[in-house]
Amino acid sequence: MVDASMLETLSRSTESCRRKPNIAIDGPAGAGKTTIARLAARRLGFTYVSTGSLYRAITLGLIRRRVDIESFEQAPDQDSVLKTIDVSLSYEAGEPRIYLDGEDVTDRLSDPEVTESVSEVARIPSVRAFLLDLQRSCAQGGGVVMDGRDIGSVVLPDAEYKFFLTASVEERTRRRLLELSAKGLEVAEEEIRHIIEKRDRIDSTRSVSPLCKAEGAIEIDTSGKSIDQVLEELLSYVAEPRMS
Ligand code: C5P
Repeated sequence: MVDASMLETLSRSTESCRRKPNIAIDGPAGAGKTTIARLAARRLGFTYVSTGSLYRAITLGLIRRRVDIESFEQAPDQDSVLKTIDVSLSYEAGEPRIYLDGEDVTDRLSDPEVTESVSEVARIPSVRAFLLDLQRSCAQGGGVVMDGRDIGSVVLPDAEYKFFLTASVEERTRRRLLELSAKGLEVAEEEIRHIIEKRDRIDSTRSVSPLCKAEGAIEIDTSGKSIDQVLEELLSYVAEPRMS
């Protein structure tokens, strides 16, 4: 005879067979998460979600509302201000587009004014709480590669695969420099290094969901490795049947 608990176990295991796994990729700024997450999603036929873009969109929303970011954490009306900011995500030809108050702001999100303030905004507990449900709902059906700082530890603690990408500060500075100059932006190396170190410091020392390697996450040091090497290394773990 099949009892209720056996049926429940059976239905859960059937569900986990059908459902695609989720992949969480965390790490500091410039470790290569976005590039690798996007390529991994493409190779696996999964959906890519950049949670950094969501924090960036909220930051842009606050800047556009002329909110003083330094004092926002103490503002009594934080929640009501956040409720006026409409951030959403949609896909065009498989590429994520981020909307702020109905406008596609994807190409504005790496503007220096946003990058400079985003870590200050992301450390505010009400902002993190505001974005948590949106991030989780993106991964509800499985088949998502999500990158950020607290994905394996807080947003998707049950993700089937968790990775933590690192690289030396020198390498991360060099990569940002190349990225910016490809966009025609000339910024001094020292300034980029300073911004990276500052973001690392804020991200890893904040009280809520600090940047950390989640329990069980596989660490990949991307220093001195090509994009292809890192991608293959990461996918080699995913190809192995690690799902329970
Ligand atoms: O990944 P990206 O550099 O776009 O992230 C921008 C900022 O958003 C990070 O420096 C961090 O402060 C914040 N962030 C976060 N938690 C995440 C993703 C991003 O705090 N899951």
